[in-house]
Amino acid sequence: MSKIYDVIILGGGPAGLAAGLYAGRSRLSTLIIEKGQDGGQIAITDEIENYPGQMVEGESGPSLIARMTEQAKKFGAERCSDVIKSVELNGEVKKLVGAKGEYEAKCVIIATGAFPKPIGCENEGKFTGKGISFCATCDASFFEDFEVYVVGGGDSAVEEAMYLTKFARKVTIIHRRNELRAAKSIQEKAFANPKIAFMWDSVVVKVDGDELLSSMTVKNVKTGELTTVEADEDDGLFGLFGFIGYNPNSQLFEGMLDMENGYIKTDDNMHTNIPGVFAAGDIRVKSLRQVVTAAADGAIAAMQAEHYISNH
Ligand code: NAP
Repeated sequence: MSKIYDVIILGGGPAGLAAGLYAGRSRLSTLIIEKGQDGGQIAITDEIENYPGQMVEGESGPSLIARMTEQAKKFGAERCSDVIKSVELNGEVKKLVGAKGEYEAKCVIIATGAFPKPIGCENEGKFTGKGISFCATCDASFFEDFEVYVVGGGDSAVEEAMYLTKFARKVTIIHRRNELRAAKSIQEKAFANPKIAFMWDSVVVKVDGDELLSSMTVKNVKTGELTTVEADEDDGLFGLFGFIGYNPNSQLFEGMLDMENGYIKTDDNMHTNIPGVFAAGDIRVKSLRQVVTAAADGAIAAMQAEHYISNH
């Protein structure tokens, strides 16, 4: 262990990268630690239509995040790829132990985001990656001209279903209620799309197949009726995409930081209950989890880290 950074940012999504940009511009020595690829959930989002200024036709999540990464780097934020296993957050110097090394900083900004919730059906693990997916951008092309089912009724489910219609010959949204949660503007596009069908009041209870997913049991939650959905004989398989919300990546901080349903509680300035520890983006208790709010959180957290360091 050599360097004590001013700030270590955990997570390279919009919140972490915005924090890196602002911390770098404030001339704080900054390290961003990300366990996978930058971007978090927007790295697997095809279309971003509501980030201010994002009007470029065909612009995707990955291209937006690539610019954010570049911008944070330009202002001096260092990057490292590691999985943090344990943290000591109390005390003047915060310590983080990763699989590859140990890291120290005066402040930590937690921007670890959230991961997709499992569908919750029998045999799900067995068919994940073998027909079941949680990322349309990653896996849609495997289902070129096949049938695909999407579980969920929120913005993600409906937007990703529309994206999947570019590949699949038919996309059926399976939703547990009889109306969508997605924003009205998104719903309108889906209802107008001739390739999209709906199974209302329904949940997937079991998936099956040989090597690949080829059948599932869907339950009508109102009548209790069970329906078996089989792959078309010529296809031999179908796709099932889950978009039913997210779980926060906060297990590392359990028992240390105040939380609500696994999301970290902060004040308006991103302070957690531990001095020098901030949280930003989807990991936080908040009302709107979007790229724009994540980026704003990251900026605020970095500026608060700067104030914290100046006053210590
Ligand atoms: P979400 O808004 O929480 O919606 C989850 C959907 O999955 C709901 O329709 C819910 O049904 C359903 N669901 C939850 N648990 C289920 C279960 N166990 N079995 C079956 N269905 C289940 O999640 P999201 O769509 O991932 O969006 C997360 C956040 O990101 C939201 O704030 C959303 O607005 C935002 N987002 C925004 C955009 C955009 O603005 N372009 C795009 C993507 C996401 P019920 O409706 O019955 O609760």
